[in-house]
Amino acid sequence: MLIVPEALIADLVSPEDALVAVAATFAAMARGEAYNFPVVREALGEGRQYGFKSGLDRAGGMLGVKAGGYFPGNAGRGITNHQSTVYLFDPDSGRPVAMVGGNLLTALRTAAASALSIDRLARTDARVLGIVGAGHQAGFQLRAAARVRDWDRVIGWNLHPEMLPKLAAVADEMGLPFEAVGLERMVEAEVIITITSSPAASLMAAHVGPGTHLACMGTDTKGKQEVEVALVGRARLFTDEVAQSVSIGEAQHAVAAGLVAAGDIVPLGAVLTGADAGRRSAEEITLFDGTGVGLQDLAVAAVAVQRAQERGLGIEVAV
Ligand code: NAD
Repeated sequence: MLIVPEALIADLVSPEDALVAVAATFAAMARGEAYNFPVVREALGEGRQYGFKSGLDRAGGMLGVKAGGYFPGNAGRGITNHQSTVYLFDPDSGRPVAMVGGNLLTALRTAAASALSIDRLARTDARVLGIVGAGHQAGFQLRAAARVRDWDRVIGWNLHPEMLPKLAAVADEMGLPFEAVGLERMVEAEVIITITSSPAASLMAAHVGPGTHLACMGTDTKGKQEVEVALVGRARLFTDEVAQSVSIGEAQHAVAAGLVAAGDIVPLGAVLTGADAGRRSAEEITLFDGTGVGLQDLAVAAVAVQRAQERGLGIEVAV
């Protein structure tokens, strides 16, 4: 078994690698060649969450699990609150193949998913990017969004405004003007990424103009919510996986309210394979409910393992 430690990941897997790997995974899911197993997520108390995301990609030869969660006390220890590790197994024998640090990979695969949705669903003339949220993940989302569109400017809102300068610095690094705005000014954006851990809607229908694409990435657990239910009910809905969207994603609340059913939600993979045409008009609001699937984690971990093997990196252990 090859151990690929967290410290090696930045040199092994690029944001572009993540885009390619996640697109292939979503397409494989849409073709029925890959599927995710049900998510296990447990509250450990004191805000700590722990769980498992896993799946099998027959065509890609990937079987595995990401174990990890959210440990809010970590910031005080100088380490990131999100901690995860990916384990890959041989799908034929079940033998362990690799253990891969999953923290940066999670950030990259999450950013890749929202960027893919923007690439395929946002209007081609989109020039203003809105970001709701300014935590650890927000900068990754911004960097990935800049790979798929040329933005004129970025506007950002966060409940905790003192966190916005860090996001502004990422925009600055990319030569993009950044402005901190009130939520009512999100109506200026043609694409809005939401990436918060909010338990209640921040972004309301009145904050979103016609033709906007929303990439809602923060809601990955029961009880979280970023967007007003009426806005979800009005949008054409896309997701990484329908089963997760209706249970732990942004759509969970609209489903509970009876505004949306599973059959209304299109897997992004279907757009990637051409089975669904995606956006139907310039006025339509499209919403990608990015819940984060185990197969995304396996796909980027497999890239890390392949690169490590090619370069003779990592630690080989007998198991
Ligand atoms: P973080 O802890 O670094 O940042 C949290 C963000 O949420 C900050 O911007 C904070 O100001 C904001 N926030 C906190 N409470 C809020 C509230 N009540 N209302 C509005 N905003 C609030 O977390 P992060 O790493 O940036 O992740 C953000 C979210 O994305 C988390 O919910 C995380 O679980 C989720 N996430 C999803 C995926 C996926 O695949 N969909 C992957 C990684 C993270």
